[in-house]
Amino acid sequence: MTQPQQLMVSGVELWQWFTQARLAAVVADIPVSEVDWLLQEVAGLDKLALRLESFKDRLEIPLSMPFSKLATLWQQRVDARMPVQYLTGVAPWRNFLLSVSPAVLIPRPETECLIELAVAAVENSSKLKKAGCWADLGTGSGAIALGLAYAMPAAQIHAVDYSAAALEIASYNAQKLGFETRIQFHQGSWWEPLNSLKGEFSGMVSNPPYIPSTLISELQPEVAWHEPHLALNGGSDGLDYIRHLIEVSPIYLRSGGIWLIEMMAGQAPVVAELLRQQGSYCQIKIFSDLAGIDRFALAYRA
Ligand code: GLN
Repeated sequence: MTQPQQLMVSGVELWQWFTQARLAAVVADIPVSEVDWLLQEVAGLDKLALRLESFKDRLEIPLSMPFSKLATLWQQRVDARMPVQYLTGVAPWRNFLLSVSPAVLIPRPETECLIELAVAAVENSSKLKKAGCWADLGTGSGAIALGLAYAMPAAQIHAVDYSAAALEIASYNAQKLGFETRIQFHQGSWWEPLNSLKGEFSGMVSNPPYIPSTLISELQPEVAWHEPHLALNGGSDGLDYIRHLIEVSPIYLRSGGIWLIEMMAGQAPVVAELLRQQGSYCQIKIFSDLAGIDRFALAYRA
């Protein structure tokens, strides 16, 4: 059993660690706010309270974990470039605090736009309603499925992932956030587990793996070393799964249903052309993310 005194640290010691950790962050080009984040999430300390210099005059400060463990975690952040979200086990995304582990991609801010695009597409369509079946293919942490469930309270969401470990996290998130009855989870490859629901879907929303295999090792170490390559690697040109989703989706989508994906910078012209060539889609549109990069492709099932 942990002795209570192991969870105490002197103010001076914590203050010294805090200032050194922030300095190490600057040197390693890591946002200094991540030190605060770690303290808040894993050590149970309020970052604003910690900023007060008076802290260093306190003899004992209670932590929710041993001080040595906190220091080791930060070391992992700096030396092993472990993303802070994996260290804390949580990632903020839209209005959720999602649980994450290295079994799932850390949900990105740009991916949040997929939910607004889906909602806007439904609102601009006379054929679609915010009800019916929606698919999140390659759900990972469950972020998109949860975002859709929240934005469309009458919709039934089907979330698919190939990784059983990812599905465990996604269903844990659904339970934690109270969406377990709204989202059904399926293990398998893309549309495959949903083959009894052909023609039923009002929409498909996906952030599939789209990075070309040869570029993965060039990504920042946080991504290349720690995030699941299964969720990143899109084959030789990055488009293997996007091509598959373009080909197979028409039999699952109802007429007027939407096909919506995230993609990499530079892929938009090819994706738009593939959608045109397939012949089952109309009103193909490309949208940019907040950085101005053409990032999302939307098409309607004719
Ligand atoms: N956006 C992710 C990245 O920046 C890639 C996610 C994906 O392949 N779908 O690495």
